[in-house]
Amino acid sequence: MKRTIVLKVNPEKPEAEKIRVAAKIIRRGGLVAFPTETVYGLGADALNPEAVTQIYLAKKRPLDNPIIVHVASENDVYRLAENVPEKARRLMSVFWPGPLTLVLKAKDIVPKATTGGLDTVAVRMPNLRVALALIKESRVPIAAPSANLSGKPSPTTAEHVKQDLYGRIDLILDAGPTEVGVESTVLDLTMDPPQILRPGGVSYEALSEVLGRVELHPTVVADREISLVHARSPGMKHKHYAPKAKVIVVEGEPEAVRRKVQELAEEHRKNGRSVGVLATDENKRFYKANVIKSLGARRDLSSAARNLFKMLREFDEEKVDIIIAESVPIEGLGLAVMNRLRKASGFNIVKAD
Ligand code: AMP
Ligand code: MG
Repeated sequence: MKRTIVLKVNPEKPEAEKIRVAAKIIRRGGLVAFPTETVYGLGADALNPEAVTQIYLAKKRPLDNPIIVHVASENDVYRLAENVPEKARRLMSVFWPGPLTLVLKAKDIVPKATTGGLDTVAVRMPNLRVALALIKESRVPIAAPSANLSGKPSPTTAEHVKQDLYGRIDLILDAGPTEVGVESTVLDLTMDPPQILRPGGVSYEALSEVLGRVELHPTVVADREISLVHARSPGMKHKHYAPKAKVIVVEGEPEAVRRKVQELAEEHRKNGRSVGVLATDENKRFYKANVIKSLGARRDLSSAARNLFKMLREFDEEKVDIIIAESVPIEGLGLAVMNRLRKASGFNIVKAD
C-alpha cells in the first residue's frame, strides 16, 4: 500500500508550491491524480515507460488499452507526432485547450507502454489551469487515463478518485468537481475522413462544422455489444463505467419512456428490489422508487453529462439493486451520455413504445 497525499488546490490560482510537489512526483516516475475540465486523470510521465506501466497497475487497466497524452501547448504535439495534418492544426486552433483528443502518427520518442503497442499517439490539451500548470511544471507530457479503477464510472471529484485509488497512487490534487463530466472526444486523424472513436466533450456537430465530413466508429452509436471482441480491439471488450447495481436503459419517445420506467420500477419493487431511477426533470415527479435522481432538463444535455458518472456512483452508495435510466436525446453531448449509459448497462436496453 502506498501513502497517498491529498492536496486541495485553488482552481483559479493553483498554488505554485503544490504544483511543484506534484510535478516532482511526475518527474521521478510517480503517479498524480489531477483534475481536468472533463474528469479526473491519473497522470505519469508519458515518456517514461516504467512510470506509465504503474498507471496500468494502479487502475488494473488491460495493458493493450492506450493512454491519452496531455500537453500544455500545440508545440508539444510536434515532439510526439509526425505528419501532423492541416486538419489537426485547424482543430487545435478551434478546440484547444478543450475536450478533444487527436489520434496522430506517433514518433519513436513515445513509449509503447503509452500507445498500448500502437503506432499512433492520442494527444490533447486540457482546459483547466491546474492541469496546464502541472504539465508545464513537470516539463514532460503527461499520460493520463481517467483516475478510476478500470471498469468503474469515471471520477468527476477527488472523492471518487479516493474511493478507487487511495493507497495505490502518490498524490491527488483536489480542485473540486469537474465541469464537463464526460471524457474527451477521441478523433482519429490517421484516417480520411476522420473518425470519432469515442464521443465526448466536443460534439459530432461541432466537429462536422469545422471538418465537413466526420465518421463515427460503429461502437460510438452501438446499442448492442458489437463483435469487436473478435477484432481484439482493446478496451472495448471490457465492462465500462459500470456501477455495482444492475443498469437498465429505457429508450424511445419521452412519454413512452416514462410509462416503461414506471412499469419496470413497479415490477422490480414488487419483487423486493431496491430500485433507483435515473430520470430527467420533466419526468421525475411521475416515478415511485427507492431513490430518484435527475440528470437535469432533457434539453440541457451538458447537465446530463456533468451529472451522469456522479449519480451512478451515488446509487451504489445508496445500495440500490437496480438502476432504471431514461435515455436522453442523441445529439450534442447526448451522444456521449448515451454511449456511456449503454455501456454502463452492458447494453441492457429496453425499447419503449
Ligand atoms: P481513458 O482511459 O478513459 O482516458 O480513455 C482513453 C481512450 O483513448 C480510450 O478509449 C483509448 O482506447 C483511446 N486512445 C488512447 N490512445 C489511443 C490511440 N493511440 N489510438 C486510438 N485510441 C486511443
Ligand atoms: Mg477511462
